[in-house]
Amino acid sequence: RIIDAAPSSPNEEAIERALRPKLLDEYVGQQKIRNQLEIFISAARGRSEALDHTLLFGPPGLGKTTLANIIAREMGVNLRQTSGPVLERPGDLAALLTNLEANDVLFIDEIHRLSPVVEEILYPALEDYQIDIMIGEGPAARSVKLDLQPFTLVGATTRAGMLTNPLRDRFGIVARLEFYTTEELAKIVTRSAALLKANIDDTGALEIARRARGTPRIANRLLRRVRDYAEVKSNGDITKDVADAALVMLDVDTVGFDVMDRKLLEAVLFKFNGGPVGIGNLAAAIGEAADTIEDVLEPYLIQQGYLQRTPRGRVATPAAFEHFGLKPPRTSLT
Ligand code: ADP
Repeated sequence: RIIDAAPSSPNEEAIERALRPKLLDEYVGQQKIRNQLEIFISAARGRSEALDHTLLFGPPGLGKTTLANIIAREMGVNLRQTSGPVLERPGDLAALLTNLEANDVLFIDEIHRLSPVVEEILYPALEDYQIDIMIGEGPAARSVKLDLQPFTLVGATTRAGMLTNPLRDRFGIVARLEFYTTEELAKIVTRSAALLKANIDDTGALEIARRARGTPRIANRLLRRVRDYAEVKSNGDITKDVADAALVMLDVDTVGFDVMDRKLLEAVLFKFNGGPVGIGNLAAAIGEAADTIEDVLEPYLIQQGYLQRTPRGRVATPAAFEHFGLKPPRTSLT
C-alpha cells in the first residue's frame, strides 16, 4: 500500500531515518512553522532555557517526527522518543521523565492516545517540572514529589481536536503542518535521490512530486519504487516517462490517487449517490477503520477539493464526479 500511516517495515524505517533532514535549513516547506521555530529556538538557547512545549499536528508523513528531531538538534540537547499507546502505566512515563537532562526534548508521538492516568502525571510535569508518584501500597502508600529537570515536550498528533483541553492548553507553541506543494515535494525528491545515489532529472522529480498526495513520506516511497522500475525496465535514469510508466504500474493515477483514494471516492459516488454519507457507513462500505479514513485518507481528498465534510456526512464534489467521468448533479452543494 502506498498510503500508510507509518513506515511499513523496519527496513523502510531505516531508509526514512537516512533521508531525514537534520537541520531547520534543510527542512523543506512549512515556512511559517520554520520561521517561528527559528526565533523561539534561538531565544531559548540564548537564555539557556528549555524551549516551550510544542504541539505538532497534521496528517501522517508530513514531517512531525523529523521536526522533533530537528528541534532537539538545534537546541543542542538529547531527544527521547516514545508514543501515546506505548506508555501504559504512570510509571512508564515517570521513568522517562526522571531520566531527562536539562532542556532535553521528550517526543511523544500519537499523544492523543495517552491513557488518562498517564496524562494525569504529565500535567504537573509540564507546568512545574514536578511529578507526584505513589510509593508503597494500601494504607502505607504515600505520594512523593520529585523534581524534574526543565524539559520540552514535543507532542505529535494527526488531529488536534482529539486532545483533551487541559493537555492542549499546556502547549506554548502549536503548529499545524500543511500538505506540501508540488515544487516543495520535487525538492525533497531531488534531495532524496541524491542521498540514494539515484539518477533523476527535473521532469522525473516533478512527476513523482505531482503524484505524491502532498506528502514527503509518500514522495520518498514512490521514488524508491520508481527507481526499482527504472533499473529493471530501463537504464536506471528516472525521467518523466519512466516515472509515469512506473506510477501507472503502481496504480497511482494522474492526480496522485491510489487504490484506497479511488475506493473511497467510488463508494461515495456509486454506493451513496454522491453523499451525504456518515463516516460509519463509509467505513463499513470500504472495509477500512473510520479513524484511518479520517486521519489518513480524507484530509488530502478534502484539501484537493474532491470531498466535503458536511454536518450530514461526506459529500462528493463536482470535481470527484468529473474525475470518474460522471456528470455532476445539478443541485448545488449546501
Ligand atoms: P510524521 O512524523 O509526520 O509521520 P516524518 O517526520 O516521519 O513524518 O516524515 C516522513 C518522511 O518524510 C521522513 O523520511 C522525512 O525524511 C521526510 N520529510 C518529512 N518532512 C520533510 C521536509 N520538510 N523536508 C524533507 N523531508 C521531509
